[in-house]
Amino acid sequence: MDPQKSPPQPSSATKITRTTSSGGSGSIILEKYQLGRLLGRGSFAKVYHATSLDDNTEVAIKVIDKATTVDAAMEPRIVREVSAMRLLDHHPNILKLHEVMATKSKIYLVMEFAPGGELFAKLSRQRRFSESTSRRFFHQIVSALLFCHQNGIAHRDIKPQNLLLDKKGSLKITDFGLSALPEQKIDGLIYTACGTPAYTAPEVVYRKGYDGSKADAWSCGVLLYVFLVGSIPFDDSNLANMYRAIQRRLFEFPPWVSKPARNIIYRLLDPNPKSRLNLDELIKLPWFKRSFSQESLVSHEQQFLGSEFLDQKFRYLSIINAFDIISMSSGLDLSGLFESEMNRKEMRFTSKSQVEEIEERVLKIGGELGYRIQRGKGGGIGLVKGRVLLVVEILQVARELWLVEVKVVGGGGGGDLQWEELKSGLNNIVLSWHNEPLPG
Ligand code: ADP
Ligand code: MG
Repeated sequence: MDPQKSPPQPSSATKITRTTSSGGSGSIILEKYQLGRLLGRGSFAKVYHATSLDDNTEVAIKVIDKATTVDAAMEPRIVREVSAMRLLDHHPNILKLHEVMATKSKIYLVMEFAPGGELFAKLSRQRRFSESTSRRFFHQIVSALLFCHQNGIAHRDIKPQNLLLDKKGSLKITDFGLSALPEQKIDGLIYTACGTPAYTAPEVVYRKGYDGSKADAWSCGVLLYVFLVGSIPFDDSNLANMYRAIQRRLFEFPPWVSKPARNIIYRLLDPNPKSRLNLDELIKLPWFKRSFSQESLVSHEQQFLGSEFLDQKFRYLSIINAFDIISMSSGLDLSGLFESEMNRKEMRFTSKSQVEEIEERVLKIGGELGYRIQRGKGGGIGLVKGRVLLVVEILQVARELWLVEVKVVGGGGGGDLQWEELKSGLNNIVLSWHNEPLPG
């Protein structure tokens, strides 16, 4: 697991770049970054260390080979990772995404470099953490997750491998590939099964609809146990046995785990999400509050002030530099990312018009085509006709660039959506189409 120990691997990414050696190391990507050693391998990508040729900043670049790894099932996952990281860029314990670049064959996610590597490696070296170290990491995770949840995003794959360390030893949560964005919820519940067995809440595994923030609270319980004890609470070598143990809360504490810590873990590892301790309650408990320094409390509050702002401005959040590159640069083509079976009932375009103008246009065309207008709580627009519900979302992706998504939600579908009429009605505010609705 120690990223330092991974030998440099030959990279297929080097094919499209000027290559100065046979390995990944030394190649220059898109004239901008010098690729260094392999830091780690994910389920669908390789992550390399790199330095910016401009100013020597160190970054980590996740290289995704579209041809071999991006099948239709992976595409939404990557889009999700990018969207989640973009929205959550503002928390100190969430790894920053600097930019996204793509060629015909590869996608590059340029991220903040976490020189401390995986928390998992540190934990393996030390066997377990002291109570105060455990609490410090736990504070950082909970604070980051609360921030995510406040912005309508649950991570759902919280485990030590996705927790990296920066040079000061602070945690950076990464790998939002599985995270659920708010629009994937139906009735406030999420329906995709995902996660990693030993860390995943039972309701997620059983594919019931579930509340992502409760599922994250479960994973926090597993993590706190792992930090304090040095092994997972439930042995996952036999999945059936493991889930039986989970249902009956059959796990034991070694003698050194304090009573209040046991109590917290026990309440987080409640198989019933309804009675499970949630993170808002957790942060009020004395064990949690201890040495949660005034300073971090202040910054904690600031985060929430920030996130309130985000809540209001959710849709119009100004985001740095990722999607303008995708949308504006002619040499880079991410269109393949957005074309999947899933998107048959969805169209997406960029626009340089003002947001009011876009809204006005959508409302006008919708009205003309006989749709009833509904305003969502978060500011989204719903167009309703019979059993068809179209949701229109407007997202700011750069200073003067908006991404507009129109998609069919829930059952409905099928009927006469009048995509073509909608499309031609919107055409004069469209800068470029990203996926045009397929007929039928
Ligand atoms: P995947 O989403 O495909 O699982 P990850 O984002 O988890 O990929 O990355 C795989 C591994 O690469 C991580 O477990 C970690 O060891 C390493 N890694 C990823 N991002 C960084 C980073 N920003 N800094 C340092 N190492 C990283
Ligand atoms: Mg990972």
